[in-house]
Amino acid sequence: MPKYKLEYLWLDGYQPIPNLRGKTKTASEAPTSVDDCPMWAFDGSSTQQADGSDSDCLLKPVALYPDGGRNNAVLVMCEVMSYNGEPHPSNGRATIIDDENAWFGLEQEYFLYQDGRPLGWPEEGYPNPQGEYYTGVGYRNVGCVARSIVDEHLELCLEAGINHEGINAEVAKGQWEFQIFAEGSKKCADDMWVARYLLERLCEQYQVYVEWHCKPIEGDWNGSGMHCNFSTEHTREVGGKDYFMKLMDAFDKNKDEHIAAYGPDNHLRLTGLHETQSIDKFSWGVADRGASLRVSHSFIENGYKGYLEDRRPSSQGDPYQICSRILKTVAEVPTS
Ligand code: ADP
Ligand code: MN
Ligand code: MN
Ligand code: MN
Repeated sequence: MPKYKLEYLWLDGYQPIPNLRGKTKTASEAPTSVDDCPMWAFDGSSTQQADGSDSDCLLKPVALYPDGGRNNAVLVMCEVMSYNGEPHPSNGRATIIDDENAWFGLEQEYFLYQDGRPLGWPEEGYPNPQGEYYTGVGYRNVGCVARSIVDEHLELCLEAGINHEGINAEVAKGQWEFQIFAEGSKKCADDMWVARYLLERLCEQYQVYVEWHCKPIEGDWNGSGMHCNFSTEHTREVGGKDYFMKLMDAFDKNKDEHIAAYGPDNHLRLTGLHETQSIDKFSWGVADRGASLRVSHSFIENGYKGYLEDRRPSSQGDPYQICSRILKTVAEVPTS
């Protein structure tokens, strides 16, 4: 009988954005759900989650994913708990707002880097200006190993049961995007963190790393976002102009709280240029990529029904915080 490998994953205590951590435990039987995965512990003094004198933190399994990158293996997404059984202060997942009838589609943009610069960039100076890279093809536009990485990442996500919806080369050279869709804020955010883990781990083999920062290159180069497309039962099934206008008022009123939850350094990206609205303004628009929040023509044609795209979240943002903040504002608006 083979031994099974359980990779326990968690978020560490670094601020403002946690890092993914993981360690392996073997088991003689394959777990079929998180209930088959025991609690585990780790040294929190090495992850900014505890002092050395009292270092143990607990890992509580919350979601299970088949791991296509290893034989007989699963990924076990965990929450970090303190020894007294309470959620650790770094455990944002434990306290977020969840609604399984709220659907989320996150568009994760990122750069692939090697030797301190984006893949395919010359050692000195700059590549050709932006223009032909977005959804581009050919060595000149996308370089050499990027295509293998994004394709293998797609396979790994699908094998893990993550609803990876698609890939595109982005506007800057070396910049890419994938989209994850799920029902429920916790589910979508768990899936996104695991998808990020799979990408980081895959890139190790290529001596490439992922630059998640939202504006890694100054100047006329697009930054990276994580557009958050969302819908609730009400926006999908009832909608209406009146409700939508009230929702937009609530988004406007809470604009600073949203920005605070959307990831660090976003002022470098939300400048009003490069398909963004500036950070201190809230606007919505139809098919307008310069708005904070965008709806499609079909949303309006269907009676203000369907999903909305908040374009402000940063590529480095924590999906737990982003989805939860949106649901908090949605909850302020009465549906009747
Ligand atoms: P664009 O690049 O034009 O902004 P994408 O195709 O990259 O659009 O992303 C659109 C996202 O919207 C996808 O992740 C998709 O899953 C998501 N989406 C589609 N329908 C819904 C819905 N009803 N509720 C929430 N998200 C949705
Ligand atoms: Mn997209
Ligand atoms: Mn994009
Ligand atoms: Mn988008």
